[in-house]
Amino acid sequence: AAKAQGRNRFNFFTPSMQEYAHFRMHLIQDLRLALERQEFSLFFQPIVELKSGDIHKAEVLLRWQHETRGYVSPADFIPVAEETGLILEIGAWVLEQAARQSKEWQQKHERIVQLSINKSPIQFRDEGEYFSRWMSLLKELQLGPGGICVEITEGLLLDAATGVSDKLLAYRDAGIQVALDDFGTGYSSLAYLKKFDIDYLKIDQSFIRNLVDDSSDHSLCEAIIVMAHKLGMKVIAEGVESEDQRELLRAMGCDYAQGYLFSRPMSAAEFEQEFLLDAKANA
Ligand code: C2E
Ligand code: MG
Ligand code: MG
Ligand code: MG
Repeated sequence: AAKAQGRNRFNFFTPSMQEYAHFRMHLIQDLRLALERQEFSLFFQPIVELKSGDIHKAEVLLRWQHETRGYVSPADFIPVAEETGLILEIGAWVLEQAARQSKEWQQKHERIVQLSINKSPIQFRDEGEYFSRWMSLLKELQLGPGGICVEITEGLLLDAATGVSDKLLAYRDAGIQVALDDFGTGYSSLAYLKKFDIDYLKIDQSFIRNLVDDSSDHSLCEAIIVMAHKLGMKVIAEGVESEDQRELLRAMGCDYAQGYLFSRPMSAAEFEQEFLLDAKANA
């Protein structure tokens, strides 16, 4: 019976599933080598203050350029990095690079560009030594308060056993701000918003996409903004692509926006050219 079952199971394993398993195996192998091959880089996307149009924040987005696969999307490799635990090493690299980049821009352009870094729940839970090493680096670099923001997702806050509050307190002591990413898409309990010290809510792009035509998205965004402000948080709208969306969000009192309307994510050199050198020249 066991044999028959095994055969049946094997029958369920269609060629396309086999291909997928094969593809995945190679992806994992390549991902393991990506750090030493220096295939990762950081991209930066400006976060615009809606009232003034000023840019003093940017989100850090990881990019993987593989020699034969070409550009691999984080949406494809981050989940694999999480499943295999590779996210710990990769994530630590991102944290370090971002801290150094922030310092470099501070020194070179005499202004703070707050860099906002994505941290996956697994990283938060299991990063161990990497955490204290990063905190030491930040201390050494003396980035000053507000130099770094960490983006986490809602689900993490529901998991009481992960030492999340201790870590968030350590962040606050170190002058690191915290944003709730993709807000509205996770397992939500509004109770955590008062329990934890969160600086920013990032409204997920799925609520922004039809903002102008869909009255329920409109109401939701409006309610999120009012609530966030009452609780002392600022709001960042993600995925803003049109002038109409920008205008509506600004009228609603949304604090910041990020999206293709303003800029795509770009390399450090491009970001510097576009937003740091020009800004200085214009000032
Ligand atoms: P996220 O943190 O929500 O990042 C926003 C995503 O929206 C980015 O995709 C960005 O390129 C994209 N985006 C920005 N503006 C627009 C717009 O106007 N329209 C549309 N349609 N999309 C826009 P990206 O760079 O592909 O990253 C995808 C996700 O991968 C991120 O979502 C984040 O969850 C994850 N990720 C990226 N870098 C890292 C990292 O260093 N560590 C971890 N743990 N996750 C990362
Ligand atoms: Mg993010
Ligand atoms: Mg997001
Ligand atoms: Mg997202």
